[in-house]
Amino acid sequence: MSAIAERLSTDTPRPAPRASDMPTCPICADSLVAAEGSAFSADGELSYLWSCETCGYGFVTRHAVKTFVCY
Ligand SMILES: [Zn+2]
Repeated sequence: MSAIAERLSTDTPRPAPRASDMPTCPICADSLVAAEGSAFSADGELSYLWSCETCGYGFVTRHAVKTFVCY
């Protein structure tokens, strides 16, 4: 009688893709998944408005955006 334990790994290690792109709330450290809004500034920066669902704290992150020029 052989007992073969077939172990299927269900918890595959995932590096949490794009997790580094998502900001965390500076108040409660909750991770924010979706920006409430975005806006381009005149100097080519993209601003995201974030609002924490947990504590309601809102803040803005700015990202430098490369301008793509198509000829
Ligand atoms: Zn928060």
